[in-house]
Amino acid sequence: MSLKEYNRKRDFKKTQEPKGQLPKQSRNRFVIQKHAASRLHYDFRLELDGTLKSWAVPKGPSLDPGDKRMAVHVEDHPIDYGRFEGTIPKGQYGAGEVIVWDNGTWQPVGDARAGHRAGKLKLRLDGKKLHGGWTLVRMHGREGERQEPWLLIKERDDEARPASEYDVTVAEPKSVLSDRTIADKATASPRAAAADDSKQKTPARRAARKTA
Ligand code: MN
Repeated sequence: MSLKEYNRKRDFKKTQEPKGQLPKQSRNRFVIQKHAASRLHYDFRLELDGTLKSWAVPKGPSLDPGDKRMAVHVEDHPIDYGRFEGTIPKGQYGAGEVIVWDNGTWQPVGDARAGHRAGKLKLRLDGKKLHGGWTLVRMHGREGERQEPWLLIKERDDEARPASEYDVTVAEPKSVLSDRTIADKATASPRAAAADDSKQKTPARRAARKTA
């Protein structure tokens, strides 16, 4: 597990984001940050092996099991990043506002490391907004590819809600650390994020990189 790429992308004299370092103990934390970078997205992060495994979710989570949300797997972030809320300065990587949209703890269903490697990670979330069973599943592409497309899917359980009745991102827009909100901007198109080409720099790949 490495935070090299995370640290490489940032100038810590200019951004208040935390410098990447490994924690002393694991607490199975999860966090979802709403991030108004060049394209608005939600960063879904799970503590595993001393870092936050991270996925950029353009539309954010849905409580509707039929509403599968594109989740682009991006580089590991430091555990301390889970508390970051603020504005990444212009000209810095991911410039724009960040709020902590949800946080709490998570539990794997089965072996988390094996699931993560295999591209199917089943888990339970105990957050302030999100609860119950969820699955992260890799769509295609090879393991270790820089921008793997995955899907974030709500399990069918008591916490599920039909999209026609309820949208948690609309109903619960505020930070869980403060009363801050982020004004909605255009989201990345799921089609652009879904397209994947392991050889060429497609628009989708550029978009995925931007949303990290
Ligand atoms: Mn982001």
